[in-house]
Amino acid sequence: MSPENTSDPKNAALSMTERFGAREADGIVRCDACPVLCRIRPGKSGACGRYSNSEGELTRTDPLVLVQKTLEDGDTMIPFNDGASEWDGNLIRNETFVTAIGSGTTYPDYKPAPFIVSTDYKGLDTVTVVSEGIFSYCGVKIKIDTDKHLGHETSAVYCKGERVGHVTTGEYGSQMLSLGGVNHLTGGSKKEGRITCETLLALCNRGAVELTIDGGSSVIVEAGKAPIIDGVKEQRMRVGCGSATIGIFAQQWHGHVDDVIVVDEHITGVLSEHQAGKCLNIPPSGIKVNGRRSTPGRYFNVANPGLGWGGTDIVDPLSIIKDIDQNVARPGQTLLLTTTTGEESSFFTLNNDYQLVQTEMPAEISKVVNRIGENCEPSLCSVIFIGGAGGSLRAGVTENPVKLTRSVKQSLTRVSMGGSPVYIWPGGGITIMVDVTRMPTNSFGYVPTPAIVAPIEFTLPKDLYQELGGHMDYIVSLGSVMEQFGEDARKDNWIPANPWPLEKQ
Ligand code: SF4
Repeated sequence: MSPENTSDPKNAALSMTERFGAREADGIVRCDACPVLCRIRPGKSGACGRYSNSEGELTRTDPLVLVQKTLEDGDTMIPFNDGASEWDGNLIRNETFVTAIGSGTTYPDYKPAPFIVSTDYKGLDTVTVVSEGIFSYCGVKIKIDTDKHLGHETSAVYCKGERVGHVTTGEYGSQMLSLGGVNHLTGGSKKEGRITCETLLALCNRGAVELTIDGGSSVIVEAGKAPIIDGVKEQRMRVGCGSATIGIFAQQWHGHVDDVIVVDEHITGVLSEHQAGKCLNIPPSGIKVNGRRSTPGRYFNVANPGLGWGGTDIVDPLSIIKDIDQNVARPGQTLLLTTTTGEESSFFTLNNDYQLVQTEMPAEISKVVNRIGENCEPSLCSVIFIGGAGGSLRAGVTENPVKLTRSVKQSLTRVSMGGSPVYIWPGGGITIMVDVTRMPTNSFGYVPTPAIVAPIEFTLPKDLYQELGGHMDYIVSLGSVMEQFGEDARKDNWIPANPWPLEKQ
């Protein structure tokens, strides 16, 4: 690492009060870290609780979070030496990543980001620009693994009586919600904005939140945990739609049952009519189901959506049967009705009056129904934070923000949040998505504007940073960050499922 990396960086000599605010009369400090500009009395905290006045000094209440790799068997131990600091004997310090969690925010944005850290990583002079971004344009997408019908698409979603989002397009085996966004944060009443912000904050920090869907269910959502729908903990994510379930298990049913109907709100499958049944030479059973036939053995709209069998409102499975053709059906033939999770299933035999009578399920059939269950993954809630970092936040990184956007789009600058990988949307701006369970705990904060505070880091080669118009005078070495903040910092183990944020991807 070249010595100029650490030569008298402009931020280094400044106290936190000087960097993020100002001292006023009577021991009051002003916090400049967001547009609220709190005037904080001694011993008190600002409106967001993130800054306090400790003996006349502005103090960040949460520690800076460092993510560290621990050495594993076979790792080479390289003594840390940044060329400016004394080696303290710590063998893994260059395997430390300074996240933006607890780093603070500079406002207005033209001020350089709180930390611009240089690291010599694998022989490359690397710069990471670290800041807690204030996201007025942000929200969460929630994936709830369930075949239950939670509410109609576009239905409003409420939390504590306030509208905070809506039901969006369902995905394969999951219901989807879209919460937050600038319209709920800023476009409604003050209370709507506040509750929306609280809801997003709790969800992003992996708290449990109860949501109510207009005309639908109530669901408790917690990232990485099973949803609780109308008081019942969901267990399984469906193996596929009804047609896919037929396709997967047709061969295993063949020879043990005459027909199978897999009840599903979206696509109900009928084995004897389905292509899978045709390929196995399964003869027609004469049993017809309700709904609209899409293609052979695949039916839409067999019932109304609901919390019954397969996400329909069916409680009695036989209510799905429209007709039994006595010219085709034969007494004694058997029928399995199941759902796509195998959680509901019944076995029937056709009697001499051409009525289906529930009979004991043969062991061979139970085995396949159980296998449906085995193939279902556990039902989980996934919370994905989405935010736009394409605005003024970029000025804290470089004097010419569009160059940063371009370098991110060209994958020359890596973006991470709390050291975790993000997905960057194509098109204009820097619109990012991150799985909150891959981030350190309590990564998120808020300010009462209202907006969500989220960590964001930009990592790029130092020469590129200079080319982009970066704040070169504010670069500090990793060593000096460790010396100044290392003792009080929270040190989290790196999550091995994440790529190391300094590694070229
Ligand atoms: S709300 Fe928080 S960040 Fe904003 S000025 Fe007040 S203390 Fe500072």
